[in-house]
Amino acid sequence: MVVKPLVFAPDAMLSRRTRRVRQIDAGVRKLVEDMIETMHDANGVGLAANQIGVPLRIAVIQIPEDEEATVLINPEVVRREGEREVEEGCLSIPGYQGKLKRSFKVRVKAQGLDGKPFRIKAEDDLRAQALEHEIDHLEGRLYVERLVSKEQLWKIGEREEDEQEPDGPEAAPSVN
Ligand SMILES: [Zn+2]
Repeated sequence: MVVKPLVFAPDAMLSRRTRRVRQIDAGVRKLVEDMIETMHDANGVGLAANQIGVPLRIAVIQIPEDEEATVLINPEVVRREGEREVEEGCLSIPGYQGKLKRSFKVRVKAQGLDGKPFRIKAEDDLRAQALEHEIDHLEGRLYVERLVSKEQLWKIGEREEDEQEPDGPEAAPSVN
């Protein structure tokens, strides 16, 4: 497993739609291992393949309570319900966070590394947020395009409320 260099905005790699995976071969399995290693190294809760420069429709997600990463090959959101306001960050836009609207409930279908289709649903939590964030990446979209307003993007540590957090900005709920 290898930690890969991250791609940062405004790299065009992040604004292009990724290609579907046709065959889950050794190359895809190696890529997924590297994605998981890179996500762990960066303390992210998710990572999309194009964030390490590979334009394939693959994402990994691991929120703090998960013992292992969930691998999503060719994920699609099949249903969204409701709306909520969340704070979010991105490994490809380091040092910033923003406030945006995400769905309250999300249902996603994907394939696992074994090629078998499965579904995940999540509601009002970090997993729901990460699913939408990662699938947005695979569509070539960044969270900053969904901000409630331009003023709703800030540098981590520059808000008064951030300074009051005992564990500092690293402890803020950041996504991938
Ligand atoms: Zn991201």
